[in-house]
Amino acid sequence: MEEATTPRVEISFDQCKGCELCVIECPKKCLFMSKKINQFGYLVAEYSGKDCTGCGICFYACPEPGTITVYKKIKNKV
Ligand code: SF4
Ligand code: SF4
Repeated sequence: MEEATTPRVEISFDQCKGCELCVIECPKKCLFMSKKINQFGYLVAEYSGKDCTGCGICFYACPEPGTITVYKKIKNKV
C-alpha cells in the first residue's frame, strides 16, 4: 500500500492473470475486465479511474502478489 492525494489503484498489466476476483470483490465497482490482452494471453483487469476509496479489498483478493498497488489517501497532519 502506498499513499497519495487521491485514492487509486494500479494493476500491473503483465502480472494480471485475468481471474476477475478483484472485479467481483470491489465494493465500489470501479474495476472491470478490459479487452486488452497481455503478453501471456490474459484479458486483464483495469481501474475505471474513479470512485476508488483505497479500501484495499482488491489487493487482498488478488492471488498474484504485487499485481495490484493500492494508493491510500494521505492522512491530514494536524
Ligand atoms: S481499493 Fe477498494 S475501492 Fe479501490 S479498486 Fe480496490 S477494492 Fe475497489
Ligand atoms: S485479482 Fe489480480 S490477477 Fe485477478 S484479475 Fe484482478 S488484478 Fe488480475
